[in-house]
Amino acid sequence: MKGKPPKSEKGRASVAPYSIRKLEAALLERYSEDEVVVPHDDYIEEFIKEDTEIIGVYTMDPLGLGPLTMSYAVLFGDISKPWVRVEFESLIRRINRAREGKKAKLVVGGPGVWEFTILPEVLDELNIDLAFQGEADDIICDLFEDISEDTIGRGYFGGYQSFDDRFKRVWVAHEKFITRNFSGKQYPNLEDIPLIRNPAIKGLSEVMRGCGIGCDFCEVTLRPLRYYSVEMVMKEVEVNSRAGYTNAWLHSDEIFAYKHGPHFTPNEEALLELFRSVTKVKGIKTTNPTHGRISIPAAYPDLIRKLSEVMRAGPNHWIGVQVGLETGSDRLALKHMPNKTLPLRIGPDGSWQEIVTEGVRNMNKYYWRPAFTVQVGQMEETDEDNWETVALINRLSNMEVEGRPSEFTVTPMQNMPLGRIKSKDYSPEMLTQAQLAVYYASYRHLMKMAQRDAMKDSKGNIVKRTAIASILNVGAWALLYFIERICKKKGLDIEKVKRYGLEGEKVYVYAR
Ligand code: SF4
Repeated sequence: MKGKPPKSEKGRASVAPYSIRKLEAALLERYSEDEVVVPHDDYIEEFIKEDTEIIGVYTMDPLGLGPLTMSYAVLFGDISKPWVRVEFESLIRRINRAREGKKAKLVVGGPGVWEFTILPEVLDELNIDLAFQGEADDIICDLFEDISEDTIGRGYFGGYQSFDDRFKRVWVAHEKFITRNFSGKQYPNLEDIPLIRNPAIKGLSEVMRGCGIGCDFCEVTLRPLRYYSVEMVMKEVEVNSRAGYTNAWLHSDEIFAYKHGPHFTPNEEALLELFRSVTKVKGIKTTNPTHGRISIPAAYPDLIRKLSEVMRAGPNHWIGVQVGLETGSDRLALKHMPNKTLPLRIGPDGSWQEIVTEGVRNMNKYYWRPAFTVQVGQMEETDEDNWETVALINRLSNMEVEGRPSEFTVTPMQNMPLGRIKSKDYSPEMLTQAQLAVYYASYRHLMKMAQRDAMKDSKGNIVKRTAIASILNVGAWALLYFIERICKKKGLDIEKVKRYGLEGEKVYVYAR
């Protein structure tokens, strides 16, 4: 399915973000289909009527404070509003115009709510009644009734959860926020989570919540592990398949932790059964996970080979999966994510870079293409750490697997101190030479990938594929050219960045 999601005959969205489908399913357990509406974007106003009680908006990066958006804000030194914020504000204004003079309350929720905890004044500026933080599958019906009847004092905490310097939860009172009470149940149990009744965008289905690996920057790890049964997953995949999706995208924050064994040993049997089962759902031809760790392909190549067979991976069907690399530095990896390599250990089982390299080798061998993210601006990061990240990117980029060039993408993500976010004081000036080198090495590799794969991997007829490939190539070239200018202005030796970590290696020809 391509382009803007189609609408159903009645103006409802025929496909919608997975989280909205979850809450819709939870609400439908108490209310009728006439009372619960997920509208298509073009028809929002038509559903806001005199008797509408709650308008819920799901958001991931409402104010553009997410690490990816921030990485561009820093690079372009742009203190104006990022596009995601412009879009979010435009939607909220539309809703506010439509609800003017009516009783409907406006509530925002979703993983992006943390951004309002940094800039809570925006809730007033945008006339948003409340921000809800947390998972709500099991309480959404009561919550909406309490908000509607102004009885939210009971059973909830009027404020939000945040984290102290040691990544311990703290509760901050605030009249514009609401979250689950700290003395009560914090998360729904598996049996409280309803299955979606209507299709989710991209054919997404959840297979588990939580992770447990314990990286010190990650909120997901604090949530309890809950695994969906294969039957639950198949039922949701069937719903998506009915909408025409032929690929089942199985979502988790760490797929190799699905029903894992001791020390996060992957459960081969459970993983194979999961993916094999969804490929048996009528209409489903292919499947892939959303996120996974690199150490599992490094340590268990045969698992990747078997999964590839089930997923029908091959030269014309690569398995894309997002992988958090975060750094090329052993020191930072051990400090912030010592368990991310489990059951391998940095030290006895090699350096972090060696584990990553072996992981990429095994992924590429069986036609998996990791989409890496690396962090810039981590706590206690040094220049040496960032140069190690540059070395890792260059080594992976220069690597061959089975006679083919390596396949991966890498995107730098900016960690921004709160003070700078509040003062909007961001520009390339705040980047050290070593941090800038990480940006340059990442985008240099991305341009190489765009030049090599854009045409091959684009879909459609030759004209369309040529147009898409040209746009990607020109875009990648322009971005790299722009970063190169910043590097030169800052006195960064670009030739050093290009060669860093490749001493003694045969360097394959780059386009630039
Ligand atoms: S492995 Fe990924 S999901 Fe798990 S704690 Fe670490 S960063 Fe979070």
